[in-house]
Amino acid sequence: MAIMREELSGGSGGAEHAQVVSAAVLAAAARGEDESGGVDPLLLRAGDPEATARMTAADFDPEDALGPDVSEPVLDPAHCALTISVEPGRIDVSLVARRGELVSAQRIPAVGADMQPERAFDTLTESVTAVLHAAGIEPEDADTLAGIGVVAAGTDVAAPATAYRGSGWRSFPLRERLSDRYGLSVTLQSPAAAMTAGEHWRGAGRGRRNMLGVVLGHGIDGALVIDGRMMVGTTGNAGHIGHVCVDPYGPPCACGGRGCLQAVAGGAAIAEWARTHGGSDPAADARAVTEAARRGDPVALATLRRAGEAIGQAVAGAVTLLDLDVVVLGGPLAGAGSVLFDPIADGYARFAALNYASPARVVPALLGREGAQVGAAAAVLEAHAYPTGLSA
Ligand SMILES: [Zn+2]
Repeated sequence: MAIMREELSGGSGGAEHAQVVSAAVLAAAARGEDESGGVDPLLLRAGDPEATARMTAADFDPEDALGPDVSEPVLDPAHCALTISVEPGRIDVSLVARRGELVSAQRIPAVGADMQPERAFDTLTESVTAVLHAAGIEPEDADTLAGIGVVAAGTDVAAPATAYRGSGWRSFPLRERLSDRYGLSVTLQSPAAAMTAGEHWRGAGRGRRNMLGVVLGHGIDGALVIDGRMMVGTTGNAGHIGHVCVDPYGPPCACGGRGCLQAVAGGAAIAEWARTHGGSDPAADARAVTEAARRGDPVALATLRRAGEAIGQAVAGAVTLLDLDVVVLGGPLAGAGSVLFDPIADGYARFAALNYASPARVVPALLGREGAQVGAAAAVLEAHAYPTGLSA
């Protein structure tokens, strides 16, 4: 994954920098140590292994032995979703089939803050064309797809515009423009909602009725599946666990509150705490603190213990409140391993006192960075289970 990031960083966002990422490359990248914990490519691509396992001799149909009917279309566009995941530093465009398989994908590197939205939109539509072509679909037939799922960071999902933090995209009406261009409905999710939908549909939360998904990154965000259905909330913002208070005397939070989980355990807070408590590298970001902790650096270990216990505390509160089956931790810090997960388990054990909540059930995400794209497809293809509350 590091190699891909190096290849993709430093681009200005032009189509010439875009590249089609084959399913094999995506699978290989996901198997590697993606910071989000990697992905089981079999689970993502082989459809439903449980269904395969359930098949018995009685189910066997001799016709099946003849192999697939080659006269059938390989891909039915009506059961595919176009997904567009906009994050600081990159945009992922992909076509996702009905079982969550990424059929084709393209990554556009950093769309700079100075890039005009119209130019960025042109770049985006060029990527869409390439992704459709790679799947054997003509762009003029795009309206035969099931829909478009957009994931955008820094988004107020109740606003008509799609925000893209730190760029001219903030006020660009991406949903409406995509809907007009392709004649499709467009759903919009936050990265946390998309990760949660993806992990519940095809990842670590699969088959569970009640799940909290938490994205551990620069900030902390989350989303909920309750009784098998994505919880939208009154304003589309259910699940913001990053702004639940874990320490009333803690540091101020960007939201205006104090002692929020994000202000104690977000990536920015981790870097800041290490820096102000004698960390050996004043420029270390959260990833560097994690690496230092793995080497046994005492300040880094103490930093992650403080952060992890706070995460465990907040998660225990959510499980106690909502009687959850599973909590799936995704995002860049979810691949930190035991230096973060052991303190999370300790914090959880301390604060999940009631019997029903006490068994540990906090697990890392399974789909890695593809989780958001799978979740965006879930919002389109399984809209009854993964409503976003909004579509154009
Ligand atoms: Zn806050």
